Amino acid sequence: MDFSLSVEEREVRDWVRTFVQRELVPLEQEVLRRERAGRPGLTRDELTELQLKAKRSGFWGVQTPEEYGGMGLSAVLTALLEVELGRSFVPFQFGGSADNILFHANAEQRERYLLPTIAGERRSCFAITEPGAGSDAKAIRTTARKDGADWVINGEKTFITGGNEADFAMVFAITDPEKGADGGVTCFLVDRDMGWRSEYIDTMGEWGPASLIFEDVRVPERQILGELGQGFALAMQWIGRGRYLLPARAIGACERLLGMAIEHANTRETFGAPIASRQAIQWMIADCGVEIEALRWLVLHAAWQVDSGMDSRHAQSVAKLYGGVKANEIVDRVLQIHGGMGYTRELPIERWYRELRLLRIYEGTDEIQRRTIARNLLKGHVKVGGGLG
Ligand SMILES: Cc1cc2nc3c(=O)[nH]c(=O)nc-3n(C[C@H](O)[C@H](O)[C@H](O)COP(=O)(O)OP(=O)(O)OC[C@H]3O[C@@H](n4cnc5c(N)ncnc54)[C@H](O)[C@@H]3O)c2cc1C
Repeated sequence: MDFSLSVEEREVRDWVRTFVQRELVPLEQEVLRRERAGRPGLTRDELTELQLKAKRSGFWGVQTPEEYGGMGLSAVLTALLEVELGRSFVPFQFGGSADNILFHANAEQRERYLLPTIAGERRSCFAITEPGAGSDAKAIRTTARKDGADWVINGEKTFITGGNEADFAMVFAITDPEKGADGGVTCFLVDRDMGWRSEYIDTMGEWGPASLIFEDVRVPERQILGELGQGFALAMQWIGRGRYLLPARAIGACERLLGMAIEHANTRETFGAPIASRQAIQWMIADCGVEIEALRWLVLHAAWQVDSGMDSRHAQSVAKLYGGVKANEIVDRVLQIHGGMGYTRELPIERWYRELRLLRIYEGTDEIQRRTIARNLLKGHVKVGGGLG
């Protein structure tokens, strides 16, 4: 078993690490200042400028297939890259990508949605969650009723990331109530100017998702993404696209936080000695170090399964659950090591504290990951000790 990185993996990782240090870290104070004034950390133009800067070095469309002008990187490389991006809280993503399910677009939709999204000219959002259906996504009630050649959509979606900024939504609606999720849910591409509206939801995080309201929104048949009735499978494909990438980013954040904790522990003195000399502090630092290492291997193992074409769902759930729980414990310890300063807004710890909390909720809560993991073990889908295949 060889745990070392290839030359290519090392080069990609080092380039992104330098990019984060040079381009993102210097923006952090300004981003904090703006966010605390209730504004976005980066404007759209600033984000685009950073993305184009990265593009000039070839970093564009990280997982986008090469025939679409992307890098088509492996899951392992993408995870390594997310770790590096996680070292800064500046809200940055490389440009040149589109939701995985948009690649199901037909030739006409490809021109109107897929290619402009990859080019950064259009923005999408993924809308399945509703006020009455989150973990239990099959309980959605938004309907699309056939009326002549069109479909008429009614319902409300909630907590939709990017829903305020998107100019089109991938909306999941019931087209056959008899069949429900099993062949009766369809995904529609719905432009904002077809008649839906969004309302900002204020959260404890820095970016607010949105509610999307559909009142008799009429869309032509050609707006169906994929096949009629096959929407639920598409939704699951979107959610399962890269669950390992969420905890990957958290690794970077946790490493940066642990670095801050170590520096503070070595310099802050109480009762005549640095707090680093106290076992209570040492144990917190040791636990953070161990858990970050464990998380790294869970994430890379899940990514390796993706690259190997194995069924990676179990490994991804394990990494997501462990990452959510441990990242929250780690940021809490780091805050504790900083004492009162950790609680202030002078340091970014409280920002990470709020941001990392989301990891335990979206794209499958901790409880839903445990449910999946338990089911796999209890039903024998996954053999105890069979993780390496
Ligand atoms: C900031 C943010 C961004 C989001 N972005 C999107 C997006 O872009 N698109 C989108 O469609 N959705 C999005 N979501 C929605 C997100 O996926 C849901 O919030 C999540 O799936 C949980 O659903 P819920 O909030 O309805 O909680 P519920 O499903 O009501 O769950 C409430 C609690 O009960 C627990 N629970 C539920 N069922 C069980 C069970 N069977 N056994 C044990 N415990 C259970 C849950 O774990 C949770 O603790 C986002 C949410 C947030 C907060």
